[in-house]
Amino acid sequence: MVDTPLESLAASQARVTRQPSVMQLTIYRGSREIGGNCVEIRAGSSRIVVDVGIPLFDADGGPFNAKVLEGKSTEELLERKILPGVPGLFAPGPAPDAILLSHAHLDHTGFLTYAHPEIPVYATKGTSKMMHAGGVFARGVELPRERFRELMPGQEVVIGDFRVTAFSVDPASFKRTALLIEADGKALLYSGDLRTL
Ligand SMILES: [Zn+2]
Repeated sequence: MVDTPLESLAASQARVTRQPSVMQLTIYRGSREIGGNCVEIRAGSSRIVVDVGIPLFDADGGPFNAKVLEGKSTEELLERKILPGVPGLFAPGPAPDAILLSHAHLDHTGFLTYAHPEIPVYATKGTSKMMHAGGVFARGVELPRERFRELMPGQEVVIGDFRVTAFSVDPASFKRTALLIEADGKALLYSGDLRTL
């Protein structure tokens, strides 16, 4: 069969657009330390951020003192590299499609206050309740109700080009989750804080 010029043009364009895109991962913090987790994942035209934690240690390796945050703007905290420069999350740029929280601990959620205020936040109901209690009774970070999107353990949700499934990794409750993130025929398992009995 001989393609007409128009058909072969359409076919070559289709080949270009059908090129498989790759899931891209940027670990802003949390790869060489415990806590302070912040990971950005891109696939297709979508972008999600998993955890927005406060670091447990400062740049010198000493315990992180939350007092350094007091009275500082997002810009100042970015400049001092206390906030990771994730575009559209803390730094200027187009906002990611979603923030996913693996659990309520501050080293996974503590910088939510500084994140762009319109990004939806996916977490389990247990995590949302823990954050609400922490926000009311302790100096925790609250998850605003209008931004909360529920992750039900074992049930897949679609976020842009991603499919995300939360799994409980705490034998005692549904409050800590691992997140299975799938896109482009690839799968990534973010373990969160694993805990065994
Ligand atoms: Zn934790």
